[in-house]
Amino acid sequence: MIRSLVTGLLLAFAVALAALALFVGHHERRSVEAALETQLHRDAVLLASIAPADAVLRGDRGAVDAWADETGRELEHRVSVIAADGAVLGDSRVRTDSLAVIENHGHRPEVVGARAGAFGRDRRRSETTGVEYLYVARRVPGDAGAVVRVAMPLAGLRGHVREALSVLWLLAGLAFGFGLVVALWRARPAARRLRAFEDVARRIEAGDLAARASEEGRDEITEVARMVNRMAAGLRATLEKVAAERDMREEMLAAMTDGVVLLDGHGAIVHANAALTRALGRPADPAAGDRFTEWCRLPELDAFLTEARVAAGALRRELVVRGAAGRTLDAVASRLADGSLLLVVRDLTPIRHLERVRQDFVANVSHELKTPLTSILGYAETLLDGGLDDADRRRGFVETIRDQASRLQAITEDLLVLAELERPDAALALGPVDLAQLARAVTAALAPRAHKAGLTLDCATPEREVVVLGERVRLEQMLFNLVDNALKYTEHGGVKVRVAVDGAAATLEVEDTGPGVPEEARARIFERFYRVDAARSREIPGTGLGLSIVKHITELHHGKVEFTNLPGGGALFTVRLPRLS
Ligand code: ADP
Repeated sequence: MIRSLVTGLLLAFAVALAALALFVGHHERRSVEAALETQLHRDAVLLASIAPADAVLRGDRGAVDAWADETGRELEHRVSVIAADGAVLGDSRVRTDSLAVIENHGHRPEVVGARAGAFGRDRRRSETTGVEYLYVARRVPGDAGAVVRVAMPLAGLRGHVREALSVLWLLAGLAFGFGLVVALWRARPAARRLRAFEDVARRIEAGDLAARASEEGRDEITEVARMVNRMAAGLRATLEKVAAERDMREEMLAAMTDGVVLLDGHGAIVHANAALTRALGRPADPAAGDRFTEWCRLPELDAFLTEARVAAGALRRELVVRGAAGRTLDAVASRLADGSLLLVVRDLTPIRHLERVRQDFVANVSHELKTPLTSILGYAETLLDGGLDDADRRRGFVETIRDQASRLQAITEDLLVLAELERPDAALALGPVDLAQLARAVTAALAPRAHKAGLTLDCATPEREVVVLGERVRLEQMLFNLVDNALKYTEHGGVKVRVAVDGAAATLEVEDTGPGVPEEARARIFERFYRVDAARSREIPGTGLGLSIVKHITELHHGKVEFTNLPGGGALFTVRLPRLS
């Protein structure tokens, strides 16, 4: 840009110089010619007054020509004398003997002019000498028509002007060269700044909004640089704001527990959050551009979306999808103005499962309470209907009523414990508890029962304390339930209780030589009211709540309980709790 500006300026400068030179040349020639003509006028007046009038009148070529030659030499002009009849009497540039053959000059414009007025003038190429002359003629006083003519060749004059012009051209050339050097010298820093500026503009265009142009200097380039810098800063601030807003939206979406996905008009995923993958039970997150149908593989959800695309407003439905392990989904689909579809999915499976568990629980409780109640009621009525008079059997009836009532009591107590443990705000009265000491205490308390049943009951604990942070009463209850079960379900052999340290954990094991738990029942023994063998269970008292209580207490203490069938028969329950020391 700078280069073309400089070239343009220099061109204009050169044209101006050329025009000036032409004008000056022309003007110079004119003024020199004018001065020369004035000079010739004066010379003509002078020569006319001193011309040898007698010799002219006589037509004495010898005398007149001698005079012309002499004056011509002295004045350095061509001097001619023309007689009234036009014959050339003398000429300083023509030999005397040639004068007779010279053409008659009576019609030369300067001669005609001089005869008609004071002076005659002309400017032409001389036919006699072949040189271009400026002629000025003056009548010789006293003679009827003789004329003295002075002439000067213009060639010399031209040479003079040409010389002046060439000096002018030289000066112009020098000025032009100087101008060129100065212009280039001055333009170079500006060109360099513009190039740097261009680099910055390119970087900004490529997305580097931190790029800034130099704001040095006080010219227009600095002004433009300042403006571009301001624009880049503004653009950067806007982009940062937009990015921050986008990040915040993405963070919000990511933090949502509901699955959210935006689909374009062709069913391709525009954006999805992580909760969607979890809600639909997919192994991996989708990528933007994936087809939703191919990613989710749930025909029920597909059918719902097809319906939502043509629905008048938002569509909401509870879907049970087979593809995702029978999940229950609450799906809401809304069509947006641009034809895209927003789908929000909530996995209702845990809620529905809880509801089912609660329903089952109520049914189970009712069932468990109903059996002893029916029994109590039946025996009470039998007693009233005459059983009281049956001295042999009435005691047996009352004992059954007592047993069933204590079963009811056991169930309600266990239920109360469970309710207490399940309370959302259930808080443990935490303190350090030595599991080794606890195990010894529980086995000691149950030893008489084991002895009565003909079973051994051993307790192996390390010398040191094995301390966990917990509530002693609950932990005691947990261990009691496990040992109580072991004693209940074991007919021969015995029960071993072990406490040990395993890294950062404390382990508590209760092992027996009983029948263990059938494989198919293993997963369910920790469920409420679940009892393995209903027929056998009738003989062995129990509520089906003991292991459920064990599991709850363990989990409240951030621990884990596991069950294993031992290879040679027998059951092994392992409780693992975080250890304090
Ligand atoms: P219950 O009151 O019936 O003992 P639990 O919840 O304590 O209820 O136990 C659930 C079921 O697990 C029991 O009915 C029993 O069938 C089985 N079970 C528990 N402990 C043992 C064990 N040590 N040996 C064999 N089976 C067991």
